[in-house]
Amino acid sequence: MPNGTFSIVIVGHGAAGLTAALAAAEEARGAGVAADIMVVERAAEGAHGGNTRFTPCYMRLEAPDRLSADFVEDMIAVSGGRNDRGYFERLAAEAPATMGWLQSHGVPFHNPVYYLSVGPPRIQPIGGGETIVRELTRAANAAGVRFRYSCKAERLQRDARGAIAGLGVTNAEGAGETLPADAVVLACGGFQGDADMLHQHFGSGGESLRLISPGTALNTGAGIRMALDVGASPAGDWNGMHIEPIDPRSANPAPVVLVYPYGIVVDRTGKRFFDEGAGLVHETWEAFARDIHFERPGREVYAILDSRLRDITNFERAIRSEVPPFEAATLAELVALIGVPARALEATVAGYNAACIGNPARFDATDKDGLIAASALAPPKSNWARALDKPPYLAYPLIGAIAYTFGGVATDTDARVLGADGAIAGLYAAGEITGHFHGTAPNAVAVLRAAVFGRIAGRNVVRGA
Ligand SMILES: Cc1cc2nc3c(=O)[nH]c(=O)nc-3n(C[C@H](O)[C@H](O)[C@H](O)COP(=O)(O)OP(=O)(O)OC[C@H]3O[C@@H](n4cnc5c(N)ncnc54)[C@H](O)[C@@H]3O)c2cc1C
Repeated sequence: MPNGTFSIVIVGHGAAGLTAALAAAEEARGAGVAADIMVVERAAEGAHGGNTRFTPCYMRLEAPDRLSADFVEDMIAVSGGRNDRGYFERLAAEAPATMGWLQSHGVPFHNPVYYLSVGPPRIQPIGGGETIVRELTRAANAAGVRFRYSCKAERLQRDARGAIAGLGVTNAEGAGETLPADAVVLACGGFQGDADMLHQHFGSGGESLRLISPGTALNTGAGIRMALDVGASPAGDWNGMHIEPIDPRSANPAPVVLVYPYGIVVDRTGKRFFDEGAGLVHETWEAFARDIHFERPGREVYAILDSRLRDITNFERAIRSEVPPFEAATLAELVALIGVPARALEATVAGYNAACIGNPARFDATDKDGLIAASALAPPKSNWARALDKPPYLAYPLIGAIAYTFGGVATDTDARVLGADGAIAGLYAAGEITGHFHGTAPNAVAVLRAAVFGRIAGRNVVRGA
């Protein structure tokens, strides 16, 4: 601790980094510890905020002070039993207090409308993730945290005992520089922005995955590599990613199109290939979008609907593309617009329509309605099976776009980075960089865990001073 001041460097200006910085500043002030706290962010000021800035930021609580009783069990279930119970128990225990703390720093919450369908309870900061970035940046500045933009973390430095001693960066002038640090908090996201790592962990085609938002590109696995280089253990599902179906024509960030359950989806050969009605969108979108990218010809498919889409109350909520769908009075005209073989698509729609034997009056876009197609239909359609026979016909092109990866570094419930021999002295991590998701992303938990464990990291860094 040179000059009696404890130096903390936090890498990343998203939810995890900001909560760590602000919590560290408050903890230091409360404990009377002289601390120099700096956030380093590779993006220029104004482009900071990572994925957090672009997320609508749904968070899995019933209210800011309350989680659902089945929260932890659900976290285990979505991973097929692979997620670490202790991690999610700590998350559940700290979440209400963390939400209260965010509120106290100017982040108001409401109960949002979530696309069209029901699902687990969720709250949302008014203004989404951008509000978290803006308000916590303001609060951290006021608390004395310093920010270095256009400053890219490259490597961790350790002292002779193996404890963290500094961070090597490339600074805004493009020069190498070492920032002395008694502790470092890594909060710089997953590896979705690195084509080579995507190829390595997801196989051929990983390198060409579309990134869902501008913030997504900044997380190139640098923090993961730095931590592994100093002996951190890898953790999480290295074959796991959160990916969503988007409209490739759109210029919007995250232009998801989530109306596919209400029609059919065909590939470029005009054939259906999955059960579009297997579940609510947040239960099917990840496997569906991944399938589009890795299994379908041309890595693109079409959601085919008819004018009944527009009868669904608030259907626009499930479409974040500003580009209207292809639209035609007949299927023959529609195929001419999208380039799918005419006969194949007409046969697919005819077969599907013949299998729609349930009472269409039961159709309910907001929940699994049990409107199942005849069992002869292959692949089956388990809900929302209503014939497509009311022109105009509509088609949305869809591709898969990655939001974040699951593989990362091992951390304990105190946000300490773990190596083979236990915690690495002075090294902490929180958010997307940590490997705690397996199989499927738990819905509306990524920012929640970034905020909760970022705050834990910030407090513990100072307590360990
Ligand atoms: C479109 C979209 C929608 C989403 N919707 C939801 C949702 O509704 N609910 C939910 O819970 N989650 C959602 N997510 C996921 C969630 O937003 C992220 O997982 C979460 O915000 C990650 O927070 P973080 O602080 O760990 O990383 P980030 O917010 O990504 O911040 C990481 C920061 O580190 C910086 N950085 C990276 N490398 C370096 C380096 N070498 N040196 C310096 N800085 C570096 C980046 O520039 C970035 O600013 C969504 C994501 C996207 C993209």
